[in-house]
Amino acid sequence: MKCCRHVSVDAVAVCRSCGRALCPECAGGEEKQPVTCGPECSRRAERDELVQELFGQHYAAYALSYKSLTIMFAALGAIVTVLGAGILLFLPWWFNEEIWPLLLALVALGLVCIAGAVLLRRIWKKYAAILRRLAELGAK
Ligand SMILES: [Zn+2]
Ligand SMILES: [Zn+2]
Repeated sequence: MKCCRHVSVDAVAVCRSCGRALCPECAGGEEKQPVTCGPECSRRAERDELVQELFGQHYAAYALSYKSLTIMFAALGAIVTVLGAGILLFLPWWFNEEIWPLLLALVALGLVCIAGAVLLRRIWKKYAAILRRLAELGAK
């Protein structure tokens, strides 16, 4: 592959933004990072990187908040379900007689929380997958 400007010189790099082949002179040497064909492409490459970083942080914040919500709902659901079911099953009937509808409601609430945690976990995993993919693409 030859340089896009110097057709007799072998290319050693490609512009990060437009993908054109560049010779050592056009690539601007080792110290120029990222390698681009000119100021216009440098600006575009930097902008793309900033946008990617911004999205990465955006998704990281989302993933984190969905993760905490998932854990909160799962913990709350488990505690409420076990508490409600435990009292309902193991305490004497005369004690439960008055409040069993309340206990049933408690168990139902706990199960709803657990179902919510399952849904939240799905969203959290989706954001985590996007983050992983972004990191992979950024590392290339
Ligand atoms: Zn370029
Ligand atoms: Zn050149």
